[in-house]
Amino acid sequence: MHSRLLFYSFLVSGVLFSTDGIAQKKLDRKAVKQLKTDISYLASDALEGRRTGTAGERKAADYIEKRYKEIGIAPYRSQYKLPFHFVYGKEISPNTQIRLANTPIHFPEDGFPLPFSGNKKIHSEVIPEVMEAGNIWMVPLYNDKDEAENPHFEAEKTMYNKAKDAMTNGATGILFYDSYGSKYAPDFNGQSLNETINFPVAFLTFNGYQKYVHNQNNTISLDLDINIKKSERTGTNLAAYIDNHAPYTVILGAHYDHLGYGEDGNSLYAGKDKQIHNGADDNASGTAALLEVSQWIKKHKLHKYNYLFVNFSGEELGLFGSKAFVKDEHVDSAQVAYMINMDMVGRLNDSTHVLEIGGVGTSPAWSEIFAKQDKNFKLIFDSSGVGPSDHTSFYHAGIPVLFFFTGTHKDYHKPSDDADKINYPGEVKVLHYVYHIVDEMENKPKPKYLVTKQTSVGKVNFKVTLGIMPDYTFQDGGVRVDGVSENKPAKRAGIQEGDIIIQLGTYKVQGMQSYMEALAHFNKGDKTFVTVLRDKQKMEIPLEFDK
Ligand SMILES: [Zn+2]
Repeated sequence: MHSRLLFYSFLVSGVLFSTDGIAQKKLDRKAVKQLKTDISYLASDALEGRRTGTAGERKAADYIEKRYKEIGIAPYRSQYKLPFHFVYGKEISPNTQIRLANTPIHFPEDGFPLPFSGNKKIHSEVIPEVMEAGNIWMVPLYNDKDEAENPHFEAEKTMYNKAKDAMTNGATGILFYDSYGSKYAPDFNGQSLNETINFPVAFLTFNGYQKYVHNQNNTISLDLDINIKKSERTGTNLAAYIDNHAPYTVILGAHYDHLGYGEDGNSLYAGKDKQIHNGADDNASGTAALLEVSQWIKKHKLHKYNYLFVNFSGEELGLFGSKAFVKDEHVDSAQVAYMINMDMVGRLNDSTHVLEIGGVGTSPAWSEIFAKQDKNFKLIFDSSGVGPSDHTSFYHAGIPVLFFFTGTHKDYHKPSDDADKINYPGEVKVLHYVYHIVDEMENKPKPKYLVTKQTSVGKVNFKVTLGIMPDYTFQDGGVRVDGVSENKPAKRAGIQEGDIIIQLGTYKVQGMQSYMEALAHFNKGDKTFVTVLRDKQKMEIPLEFDK
């Protein structure tokens, strides 16, 4: 996890409900059963990992809608489902064609254009491995069998560098081919961080090579007509609403999307085979928790605020659902009292009892609330309103937030995050705690908003930090700075909101991934240069990391 200011709570006993103990135990058993039912379904293989925009995501959305209907909470708008559109990664436009001997090849089994290819239409008569200026070059990807059999061979990087060289040497385009049938041959990588080059680049698989190239003694007629575009996707949020005609609304949220088969490059699974990432803790646990707590709020008739329950999609790709919700629904900090986010609340450790709570610095009201401790947990607080989940979108809209999280674990973002590993009684304890806060807030005025120091970069460990909030939605090369933290290296160096970081030291930054990789190279106290684009002007800014 990211660096953070931690302080540990000391525990005193407290009673959550005045309800008699036996009746409470019965209700808790009921809650455990319901959480099991919800999580087991949401994290089942039938939903194929609930990847945003897939049939699995839609099945999960149907289920959540059905549950709100059962509980008896109305939709926020005319319907529960609120679709949103966003751009993520790249794809091959349908009008793209690669023709060999005037025959269009089949994508992707025979070959495909590369994600960094320029959009161009060119024709050549080519002879493999003859590299003439003014012609398309057709060259092997692997120089020898060893390269083809090396699992660490970086195919995309190799092709990117060779393509740039070929362009410099007068080629009009380049087609790589696999003449060995490598087990590690590349796929089309929509999340490629390589910048687009103004030059058509394509790859012929072993299959395509055998069909079109292997037995050719003459020149081959080759047409590259390539069109790579940004990939537009649609996700679906859901929102249910208890309207008490109160002046202010409380928003409770949890994302329900997950990684699918890991196609978006956000899996931590090391294997090459495609496996379903069930995402039981991340975040079927929060989804089920939200449904359960909505039922409690309804049953106990909390009424000083209106209550809005939002199930987000697109979280795993960069908080797209919560950002869209804030924007599309014109979420107004003047009308929203506070927002509570639950992401990964199913793995309470029965020996450490750690419950992490983020956002406690976003309102003075929270220090009052958390001054009273709870016997069930060892609470770890993070003051920042910015974190690796959807509350960040509401914090940026000027709304006090809280983020509940039972901690990361070895199954995080792996196919092994399964329903049988959830601590169901532990999750019910977390739910009581969350409900208790909501209940206590009923008797308090709308909490004031505070801007917090930003300590989070994401769920990654670094020795150093720049102290910027990156814009996770920015897709045009580099990392756009959304905010700069006080008293941190970036601020001291004079980096400003809106700057686009394109290089850290000698490391090129093409997006979030290369930014994080670049950051990992630095140690405390290192001095370097940050290259940024400010109003399209390139600037090199000297920077010193904290000691
Ligand atoms: Zn996740």
